[in-house]
Amino acid sequence: MRAMVLVEPRRPLELRELADPRPQPGQVLLRVRACGVCRTDLHVADGELPDPKLPLVLGHEIVGIVEEGGSRLAKGTRAGVPWLGWTCGECVWCRSGRENLCDRARFTGYQLDGGYAGFAVADERYCFPLPERYPDAEAAPLLCAGLIGYRSLRMAGDPRRLGLYGFGAAAHLVAQVARAEGREVYAFTSPGDLDAQRLALELGAVWAGSSLELPPAPLDAAILFAPVGALVPQALRAVRKAGVVVCGGIHMSDIPSFPYRLLWEERVVRSVANLTRRDAEEFLALAARVPLEVRVKPQPLERANEVLTALRAGAIVGAAALVP
Ligand SMILES: [Zn+2]
Ligand SMILES: [Zn+2]
Repeated sequence: MRAMVLVEPRRPLELRELADPRPQPGQVLLRVRACGVCRTDLHVADGELPDPKLPLVLGHEIVGIVEEGGSRLAKGTRAGVPWLGWTCGECVWCRSGRENLCDRARFTGYQLDGGYAGFAVADERYCFPLPERYPDAEAAPLLCAGLIGYRSLRMAGDPRRLGLYGFGAAAHLVAQVARAEGREVYAFTSPGDLDAQRLALELGAVWAGSSLELPPAPLDAAILFAPVGALVPQALRAVRKAGVVVCGGIHMSDIPSFPYRLLWEERVVRSVANLTRRDAEEFLALAARVPLEVRVKPQPLERANEVLTALRAGAIVGAAALVP
């Protein structure tokens, strides 16, 4: 099969011809139909996350057709593979419904080969049938942007006014879920990113502006998808008393020091790590019920480096996906 391979961090991916992977017991073999490109892929490729498997096939938003193996998913089923690829089932986190924090968790496109390839293998327990209404490339961003976005939204409590900092793949889906739940969405982008602001308004945000601005009304909660630590104090300024600021990304630049009064009055800053299978089931059921408009531009697999460069430059509106 063809695959785009990370040989070493901070080097472009290499297009290689690899042997098709063979499913081990408990795994399925999937013919990849599309694979989303997530900001986390950039963090892995740029060496910001420690000790990736090398060489590595990136990609953890895999949409594929089951070709082989599987007791739960029949051959021919379209299934999605997310970031959480394996958990131990035994540690205190796994046994308390928090497998996202498993001490021995393994992640797709990081410690396990992912979906920038013609085929992928995955533990069947972490593969999910996908709602039919979404074509392959549109289904791909649901698997991380959608799913971790959904978990972040749940961690934000029950806000009437929700701020989203960084309006890319995750925010453009979360905004629609939040709206369907009757929330007001305030979208914050890099200064001057009018394309992202326009997209936010098209998708129903009541306000869109620069992340350096304060919203017209205090927020009940904010979710940060942009990997910019300076946005933490900025978002604390924007939330009301007891407001929650959720950091949705896996990596972020350092958070600058800030006056305690920004946190005072029971404001909360918290992170969201990974996902659980329950998040996937809940979110995919919601995505089947609520038609989400997925803005995605499918690109051929061999253009992975160009897509990553565009993502790094903030030049992608909505989500990105590769098609083998
Ligand atoms: Zn565990
Ligand atoms: Zn991701």
